[in-house]
Amino acid sequence: MNFQQMIDNLDLVTSRIKKAAEQSGRPAESVKLIAVTKGQPVEVITRALDLGIKRFGENYPEETDSKIRQLPGLEKDIEWHMIGHIQSKKRRYIVDHFSFIHSLDGLHVAEVLSKELVINRKSLPVLLEMNLTGEKSKFGFPAWDDLTFKNTLMEIEEIFSRQSISIKGLMTMPPLSEDPNASRVVYKRLRDIQTILEKKYPDQNWTELSMGSSFDFDVAIQEGATMIRIGQALFGLRIQI
Ligand SMILES: *Cc1c(COP(=O)(O)O)cnc(C)c1O
Repeated sequence: MNFQQMIDNLDLVTSRIKKAAEQSGRPAESVKLIAVTKGQPVEVITRALDLGIKRFGENYPEETDSKIRQLPGLEKDIEWHMIGHIQSKKRRYIVDHFSFIHSLDGLHVAEVLSKELVINRKSLPVLLEMNLTGEKSKFGFPAWDDLTFKNTLMEIEEIFSRQSISIKGLMTMPPLSEDPNASRVVYKRLRDIQTILEKKYPDQNWTELSMGSSFDFDVAIQEGATMIRIGQALFGLRIQI
């Protein structure tokens, strides 16, 4: 993708963010843009940095590790956000490279990460990924009906006591659809769950809602997203997956 195209894309995304934020009665600054660079070459990252983008979302820690090696000296300018499913065996990369986790999806991985963080004297803010639809292809804490949600609450309570992990909010992925409005019900539900958790566990921080990608981020912002994860609307089709 040429640089001018990226500039135009960023302009368009920025104005859509502003408009949707206004529609939800919030300033545009209340929405953080996470630029998703999985499957994109490092040149895309250096150009995006030139445009002032600082938060990058990645799904595969080994891919991120290889990119960081190709970006010497720039790692301090970048905030890496892990948005993909976390495998325990990749814990080292996660703890070394990432400053924010969107995709904590189970108690086991919370324990693995916590131990690794303690060993390395680090800490990480995390979001709990929720599976709100029951799709088998999706990761996340099961929360598609009362029974699954009740069990998930017990797991979440366990996570509170895990050291070096601090919960900041929730994340979800809607089902694939052609229609952005189909995501709305899922995003509303994530916000409802946030409200429930705020009431039930007021000592924890539930501020952030990471929801919305290229095709539906306007809807996500209207429904309260504070973080959106945008790949293709900024950088075009992914080339390397
Ligand atoms: C790839 C990915 C995105 C970005 O998707 P686009 O359609 O490129 O905007 C957002 N969230 C997650 C979890 C992803 O894996």
